Amino acid sequence: MKFHNALFYAACTATFLLATGCSNEESPPPAEPSAGDVDGARIAAAASEPGNWLAHGRTYDEQRHSPLDQINDQSIGDLGLAWYWDTNTTRGLEATPIVVDGVMYTTGSWSVVWAHDARNGELLWSYDPEVPRDYGKYACCDVVNRGAAVWKGSVYSGTIDGRLIAINATTGELEWKVQTTDPERPYTITGAPRIVKGKVIIGNGGAEYGVRGYITAYDAATGDQLWRFYTVPGDPSQPFESPAMEHAATTWRGGKWWEIGGGGTVWDSMAYDPELNLLYIGVGNGSPWNRYLRSPGGGDNLYLSSMVAINPDDGSMLWYYQTTPGDTWDYTAVQHMILADIEIGDEMRKVIMQAPKNGFFYVIDRTNGEFISAEAYVPVTWATRIDPETGRPVENPDAHYANDVKKIRPGPLGGHNWHPMAYSPETGYVYIPALNLSFKYGQDNAFRYQPENWNLGVDMTTMAPASDPDQLIADLQDVKGFLTAWDPVAQKEVWRVQHPLTWNGGLLSTSGNLVFQGRADGHFAAYKADTGSLAWEYPVDVGIMAAPVTYTIDGEQYVAVVAGWGGGFGLTSGVPRHRNNVLDQGRILAFKLGGKAQLPDPEVVFIDLPQPPDIDTTPEQVDRGLELYHLYCSVCHGPGVTASTGGIPDLRYASADTHASWKAIVHDGAYSQRGMAGFSHVLSEEDTTAIQAYVVETVKATIGLCEGEYRTNYPELLDTACTRAAPGAASGGGR
Ligand code: CA
Repeated sequence: MKFHNALFYAACTATFLLATGCSNEESPPPAEPSAGDVDGARIAAAASEPGNWLAHGRTYDEQRHSPLDQINDQSIGDLGLAWYWDTNTTRGLEATPIVVDGVMYTTGSWSVVWAHDARNGELLWSYDPEVPRDYGKYACCDVVNRGAAVWKGSVYSGTIDGRLIAINATTGELEWKVQTTDPERPYTITGAPRIVKGKVIIGNGGAEYGVRGYITAYDAATGDQLWRFYTVPGDPSQPFESPAMEHAATTWRGGKWWEIGGGGTVWDSMAYDPELNLLYIGVGNGSPWNRYLRSPGGGDNLYLSSMVAINPDDGSMLWYYQTTPGDTWDYTAVQHMILADIEIGDEMRKVIMQAPKNGFFYVIDRTNGEFISAEAYVPVTWATRIDPETGRPVENPDAHYANDVKKIRPGPLGGHNWHPMAYSPETGYVYIPALNLSFKYGQDNAFRYQPENWNLGVDMTTMAPASDPDQLIADLQDVKGFLTAWDPVAQKEVWRVQHPLTWNGGLLSTSGNLVFQGRADGHFAAYKADTGSLAWEYPVDVGIMAAPVTYTIDGEQYVAVVAGWGGGFGLTSGVPRHRNNVLDQGRILAFKLGGKAQLPDPEVVFIDLPQPPDIDTTPEQVDRGLELYHLYCSVCHGPGVTASTGGIPDLRYASADTHASWKAIVHDGAYSQRGMAGFSHVLSEEDTTAIQAYVVETVKATIGLCEGEYRTNYPELLDTACTRAAPGAASGGGR
């Protein structure tokens, strides 16, 4: 903007001061530091200004490593809270803030955008795109948003209902908006846009419901659409949109995937190499998940589960690498992609690295897509290895579930999900927020496409917690989350930190020999980057999923993180599980050396699981209810009636009033303005009663478990099933 002011002044003097707005004073007014003054040259040179966090992954290579080292493994004992700001939201928070010249731009639940003074947390403005609350039923994995992008004085963000919005970075006023998705289809946007050469690149989600994936480039100044890249072929009776689609279509065989959509959504990761002028996108799973239904004749089903390199000038494809050919397990490759130049076999290689859901860590040549290496970073059973000659997985025949239910690792939540990794060029390690999860895959033999619902082709009743208590305890103990330091050259784990809970936060590494991570158990922590030993932790009273950032203001280094639990695991993980946190609502927190701010005491009151109302049920109703519940309800309320986030009502604790109004709520949509849509389009009144019967019987069974010896023997596993923090008791108060 300084540059623009100077030009403006020169133009004024040259035209003899006649034009409106010019002045003939001796010197131009001092240029005000303008908000959001970011462009491609500045992002490309981000290494020269480590005090800012200009883009989603800090730099275009998305390494999420900061050279800042004032906070380091020696000084970190003095790290304290500088400020915090309560979001007053109770749904998941996943955003990486952007910090430009002292201003922090963040997004929250329901796609709200906030600007804060990054020094003290003062709210400068907020923008609420007012997403209709009943649209939440299309968000497979919570009404989250993973962040904004900032460019030349504007802030860009996607909305859950498929809009891309541009907001004035100074005033918070809307500049333009564009619907990037077909409103007739259940698309959502949760990912952060990236901005390359003046183009805002935005993807979308919805493959669980049934959509066709693509990304679109819009002119940052005007919102005009510049190009669109589809990731999977459409209706074969129509012309191909691109040579890439013509090639892809040869790998889809039989079936009518285009009616459901085919999937392949680009819902999270991108990276950009300015030198190669390549934009990298990560592509998701198929619609439906089940390949035997989606493409019964087989085939790789390009470009599902692939990393794809695109020319950002025109949206044409340069190369692709498919991590899971013919994916049938929801093994997306939308996970974080990191660009780095690393020495492999005495040669410097330009690589792209990814730990997609399928459990293998990939190192790929980013100039041409050539396979370099891959090894499993978590326990994997669907494939034994990646063949180094072909770069293709060697599948385990037992991983196919068309005829029998098969327990497979990883599950649909992946060995690693969206939570950002970090790569330290100093240690040479990639840090992975990893998961050890399995899933019982079985074909849904009654599958038929239902436009407004999940369309997986997979039997979700396998997610209901085991009724045998011993099996239930074993299943709970099997769920693990950990932090791994991975050597991408040797393709092996260097160290691991086992976490108490499963779904932990994204990562930041710094030149202070530190890796920062928020945890599901409501702590923000730092580990030594070289050894993994715990350097520092701080209780924040709410589980953390998002990745931290760091920045400086007036020579002081801050580390900030958005805290608030929920998301795909919080909503859909199912099993009654650990106490994840005590505070319902989210907060943004910033730390600095000598920080003295204090969080309020959450004053938690725990209440026991109440007895359900005395409702007559029949075994037939309960069986039918289990089926319907896992078809329509478990997505938000948790498989087995175990909503484990504060944001979604835990039906185990449903009041007598709720039970009395059951049909009005579930069938007629009495609470649709609160985000609980009515389901009369798919459920009869008898169906809703069957679901109620299943809920009531599940609560009775859980109470039996809570009152017995299992509770005494496994309190850490059963506490959250048996008690919960009373709603509202822990609202933080203060700022
Ligand atoms: Ca998926």
